[in-house]
Amino acid sequence: MTLKEQPKIELHLHLEGAAPPAFIRGLAAEKREDISGIFDEGGGYAWRDFRHFLRVYEAATSVLRSPEDYRRLTLAVLEESAAHGVIYSETFLSPDFCGGRDVTAWRDYLAAIEDAAAEAEAKMGITLRAIITPIRHFGPEKSRDVAICAAETAGRFVTGFGIAGDEMICEPKDFAWAFDCAREAGLGLTAHAGEWRGPQHIRDTLAALAPSRIGHGVRAIEDLALVDELAERGTVLEVCPGSNISLGIYRDWRKHPIGQLYDRGVKVTVSTDDPPFFHTTMTREWDRLADAFDWDQGVFDTLNRTALDAAFCDRDTKEKLAKRLEPRA
Ligand SMILES: [Zn+2]
Repeated sequence: MTLKEQPKIELHLHLEGAAPPAFIRGLAAEKREDISGIFDEGGGYAWRDFRHFLRVYEAATSVLRSPEDYRRLTLAVLEESAAHGVIYSETFLSPDFCGGRDVTAWRDYLAAIEDAAAEAEAKMGITLRAIITPIRHFGPEKSRDVAICAAETAGRFVTGFGIAGDEMICEPKDFAWAFDCAREAGLGLTAHAGEWRGPQHIRDTLAALAPSRIGHGVRAIEDLALVDELAERGTVLEVCPGSNISLGIYRDWRKHPIGQLYDRGVKVTVSTDDPPFFHTTMTREWDRLADAFDWDQGVFDTLNRTALDAAFCDRDTKEKLAKRLEPRA
């Protein structure tokens, strides 16, 4: 079996950020909108630095405006993931973009996305679950409405709650109400932290929001006492090395802290974040990690098992997936 075909579990993927450029180009053409400036000669997304990346991301996702757009987006994204061996994926969805935080409108978007997920599962053997995220830089007030949308739709498909957006804005405790609301609704919890801000941000996030997983969390490496604490608590890190390197947080694959975090016993997993924006795929992530840290199949099996244990889906789904991860004779 090739690296690409090997089954993979991915926990950290932004649905809009995973939109294949060809899909966005096609949708823009249908709507007669000119966003040609965001693509390079090869047809991929073109951006220069973090600020510019945000502008390109915004322009690309501005063409997604209806439940039907999201249904087609979900299918396009899952087709791409399945082509790289992903058998289970958790994706971030935001009622901020899907229905403007109105519960009724949100239900329409969600129904369309869930419909696409069921179709992809039947046709491509990939299972999708959703993590609902408020956007940090939209402020704590709006996060409450997002939490209510999440709580109202919690169930077999909506299984988690998180927070994304600009890490430099607001403090973790500002979102405690939203996280408490999601926790009471039975949702699994994760939070982006320790990507743009350092170890103290991870400590504050754990103290204020008590998530079982941290999105990124890689800058814990700047405080080894925190690294040991994460290992002891069993906090799972959704590490996205290609994203970090692409955004310049680390210079190259060998300098990325995932190797050290793994060696010190932290539960790490590997994801792509916004794959076409970072010119990456799950296959490329595994390939580069194997190369940088001499990781063999045993390590990737461990990463898959850690990810499956930390997944927010129900036990039945986990058992079925576990069977597909077993090595075939
Ligand atoms: Zn992310």
